[in-house]
This record gives sequence, structure tokens and C-alpha cells, in this order.
Amino acid sequence: MFLQKAVRSCVSEARSSLPLLSAVTSRRRQHGHAQTRPETSSAKTLMDVGTRRIFNEDHDLFRHSARRFFQEEVVPHHNQWEKEGQVSRELWEKAGEQGLLGVMAPEEQGGIGGDLLSAAIVWEEQMYCNCTGPGFALHSDIVMPYISNYGNKEQIERFIPPMAAGKCIGAIAMTEPGAGSDLQGVRTHAKRDGSDWILNGNKVFITNGWMCDLVLVVTVTNREAKTAAHGISLFLVEDGMKGFQKGRKLDKIGLKAQDTAELFFEDVRLPASALLGELNKGFYYLMNELPQERLLIADMAISSCEFMFEETRNYVLQRKAFGKTIAHLQTVQHKLAELKTEICVGRAFLDSCLQLHGEKRLDSSTASMAKCWASDLQNRVATQCVQMHGGWGYMMEYPIAKAFVDSRVQPIYGGTNEIMKELIARTIISQK
Ligand SMILES: Cc1cc2nc3c(=O)[nH]c(=O)nc-3n(C[C@H](O)[C@H](O)[C@H](O)COP(=O)(O)OP(=O)(O)OC[C@H]3O[C@@H](n4cnc5c(N)ncnc54)[C@H](O)[C@@H]3O)c2cc1C
Repeated sequence: MFLQKAVRSCVSEARSSLPLLSAVTSRRRQHGHAQTRPETSSAKTLMDVGTRRIFNEDHDLFRHSARRFFQEEVVPHHNQWEKEGQVSRELWEKAGEQGLLGVMAPEEQGGIGGDLLSAAIVWEEQMYCNCTGPGFALHSDIVMPYISNYGNKEQIERFIPPMAAGKCIGAIAMTEPGAGSDLQGVRTHAKRDGSDWILNGNKVFITNGWMCDLVLVVTVTNREAKTAAHGISLFLVEDGMKGFQKGRKLDKIGLKAQDTAELFFEDVRLPASALLGELNKGFYYLMNELPQERLLIADMAISSCEFMFEETRNYVLQRKAFGKTIAHLQTVQHKLAELKTEICVGRAFLDSCLQLHGEKRLDSSTASMAKCWASDLQNRVATQCVQMHGGWGYMMEYPIAKAFVDSRVQPIYGGTNEIMKELIARTIISQK
């Protein structure tokens, strides 16, 4: 009871500062504000507040408060969290109090009820502070939508309010040691036992896996289905259930403060109420939700590019060689000009994707293009920015070094970029 009251109060505070889609649209029409907001190509820096025509003044206020949150609550602790391989639980609760979790979860479900652009502000501000530890985006905009969209009333009431409050941390477990790109190769399996299910199997590389209170587990429920995709279901598995074990936090080359873990399920008894949505519809739900996952990876990739560009611009303006700053060298100037152009071109495409998705018009192939291109760009920008830092760019005490190692995973997870090309190619061929 107390928990629900606390959740309601923090959610209502956040809601009052969040722009809703209808309000945004009418404000645009009234003030023709689009003409007055510079795009990033003409802004003073690529991370300025008050830019980009897809946003409005309410979004700017929200961005200011998100930026303050990351600077005050995340940046000072991130080095320590990198050593520990996870962030603190308090951080999650503070983010919930601030209205930064489950921004898009509907208000009537106990979420914040904000628009997609507000959710994107949280993704972007996290990249602008170069702190990849908190798995907020996965929790809020990958896991929570499954529950909001396919959960029954009981599941929504049970999980959405505490997730928006940061008191219940979410994860999604698709990948297995033998099945990553080929999701239809999943072996984790649930067998009926009366009205219960008995779950067995193991998952790997699970973001928020160590800290999660709730994990959505992709499971085979019908081995005789006409194709594997027709026999997959999603289950809600809670921390503490007998037979559910978390393995070690995995030692990664980057994302050091992010708790990526293995999960083991040994004869876990699940009640019928743990099934999310309809039986054997899991693969269909995954296909519906993956475009949003790809969009957020892409937006975070472009935001990271914007951060790395500004970090490098500042560096070359103060670093001296041959009696002048290296910003005086034409080779450096041309490199910066190329990078800025590519990043701004990427930003224009991403903003278009964000706008389309806000209007529920982003198709899966376009989301794949955004993920593939933006995450590859992020890695090219990271390489060039490290180069312009010289030897200091290779030292972990320099933010650009962290941004470089953290970039590497982006073309791998959320579906590898090779798989993105397969998905894009399919629509090209099928149009013939
Ligand atoms: C830090 C991190 C966090 C992650 N978080 C999560 C999470 O929260 N939940 C989750 O379920 N998973 C998560 N993953 C897993 C991630 O989604 C997978 O690693 C990814 O989908 C690739 O699968 P795989 O590792 O099995 O590679 P594989 O599928 O074995 O691929 C190996 C290589 O073969 C290529 N390849 C495979 N099939 C094809 C094909 N048909 N055509 C062309 N090339 C192909 C791939 O592109 C890749 O280059 C995470 C991974 C990492 C590293």
C-alpha cells in the first residue's frame, strides 16, 4: 500500500513536467516553433539544449532536468561502479523519483505517460554524460513495453508501477550460449505440469541480469510446432523463484558498469500467471518490439557521436604541437569537418525515425537501417576521435577512451549489423 502511494506520487510529479504527444502537436501548430529551433548542424555545439525541430520547449525543460540528474547522480559515481561491475540500487530509485524510468508507459497503467521524444531525451542525455552503466533504456523502453502491450491487467498492475519507480529492475533474456542471431534456435524450454509450467535452460549476455528483479524469458513451449517461431512463448520470471540462479557478472571489454550476466533456470515452477500474452505468440511479440530496441540503440549511437565530437573539438583546441594548437592543422580541421557532416547527416535521419516512430509509422526495415548505420558510424567516429587525441586517447582516464571501448558492442547486440542487412535486404528483394 505504502509502495503504491510512493510510486503514484513520484509518477505524478514527473508527469506534470512531461510533454504528451497531443500537446506537442498543438503547440507546434500554434507557434510554428519549428522555424525557430536550429538543427544541430547550425547549433553552437551538437549537444545544445533548445535545438532540433522535433522537440519543443517542454522537452527542453525535461532535458535540462535529465542532464542535471546524470551530471549529479551518475557521473560522480561511475568510476566506482565500473570497478564493481554494476550501478547502485539507489540510483534506480532516484531515477524513478525523477520520472526518468518508464517514461512512455501509459499513465493509466501507473507509468509516466510521456511521449517517445521524452524517452529519447533520457537515452541521449545518458550518452552525453558518457556513462553507459545504468541499463535504463533496456528496462524502460525494451522490457516495460512488453508488459504494457501484452500483459494482462494483473501483470500490468503488479509490475509497471514499481518498474516506473525503479524498485523493480527489468531484463530480457533471449540469447543463449548456442543461440544468438538465430533466435529460433533457443533451447530453454517450459513443460506443462497441471496449470503450472516447469522451466529449464540457460541464457547468456543478459543486460541488467545481475540486478534484475524480473526477467522476460524467451522459451520454447511447443517443440512440435510447424516452425520453431510458432512454438515460442514469453514468461515473467522473478528473482528469488526456486531454481532461478544468476551466474557471474561477465567481464567485458567495455560497458564496465553494466551488469551483464548469465542466468540459469533449473526446474523453476512458474504459475500460469507467469505467461505473458498468448501461448506460442512470443516470436511474434519479439518481432513487433525489436524495431524500438533498434531505434534506441541507433539514437544512443548518434548521441555518443555527438559527445565524442565535442570532446575531441575541446581537446584539439587546447592541445599544442609545433607551437600551435593542433586545431590549427588543416588535416585536423578537415577531419573534424568530415565527422561533423557525417554526424549531422546521421542525426537528421535519426530524428526522422524518432518522429515516425512517435507517429507509429517506423517500419522494421528502416529501424534496422538506423541501427546498422548509426552504430557503424559510432565506431568510425570513435576511432577517428581517439586518433586526434594521440596517446592520451588510449588512456582510460580520458573520456574518449571509454567512449571508444563502449562503442564496440553497438554493432553486435540488438541483432548484429549483419542480421540488420539481412532484414533490410529481405524487403528490397520482396518488392520485386
Ligand atoms: C554487452 C551485451 C549485452 C547484451 N544484452 C542482451 C540482453 O539483454 N538480452 C539478450 O537476450 N541478449 C543480449 N545480448 C546478446 C546479443 O544480442 C547477441 O550477442 C547478438 O544477437 C549476437 O548473437 P551471438 O553472440 O550468438 O553471435 P552469433 O549469432 O554466433 O554470430 C556470430 C557472427 O556471425 C554472424 N552471423 C550469424 N548469423 C548470420 C547470418 N544469417 N548472416 C550473416 N551473418 C551472420 C553475426 O553477425 C556475427 O558476426 C547482449 C550482448 C552483449 C555483448
